[in-house]
Amino acid sequence: MRLILMGPPGAGKGTQATYIADHFGVPAISTGDIFRANVSKGTPLGVKAKGYMDAGEYVPDEVTNLMVRDRIDELDAKPGFLLDGYPRTLAQVEELDGMIEFTGHKLDAAVVLTVDDEEIVQRLLARAQSEGRADDTEDVIRRRQQLYAEQTEPLIDVYRKRGILLEVDGMGEVDDVTQRIFDALDVVPES
Ligand code: AMP
Repeated sequence: MRLILMGPPGAGKGTQATYIADHFGVPAISTGDIFRANVSKGTPLGVKAKGYMDAGEYVPDEVTNLMVRDRIDELDAKPGFLLDGYPRTLAQVEELDGMIEFTGHKLDAAVVLTVDDEEIVQRLLARAQSEGRADDTEDVIRRRQQLYAEQTEPLIDVYRKRGILLEVDGMGEVDDVTQRIFDALDVVPES
């Protein structure tokens, strides 16, 4: 299975990504998590990414693409993967297409979690208190939502046109959302 999970910041992608990836026995690859790990270790990649992340901006495509390419080249991702938070721009879509095509596979589905924007702001502010993420201040949250609307939402149409889009209601209890995702994925043949 090769899946991508999309949704605005705070839609609960990270939590759901783990459940879905476990179910299919593939790694959940979160670009946000990889960036955060690099920031906390102070690697050159982390140094490059930090300023963008703290401001709620996207890390430049060339940096992000290279990182994803390296990650999905690893052995555990050969049977498949779930990408959480990538692609986020049209240029990243093209790049991912190239990476997957190169391996002779295809993308099976793009799951998008739909949520209420205002509720998300409240969720993220709550997460700021529990996890202390630097990019969870209200201004930065709203900037991230704006970027999502401008740069990432157009990807929904791209995947819809390809016939692999699964739109799932991301509101409510975590378990209910997980169940909805599995129900939606049931229709996808495993490749
Ligand atoms: P996330 O944990 O997915 O919300 O990502 C946290 C931050 O990492 C984002 O606000 C961006 O600064 C950066 N980031 C994660 N994924 C990407 C991506 N695909 N393209 C550019 N920046 C990204």
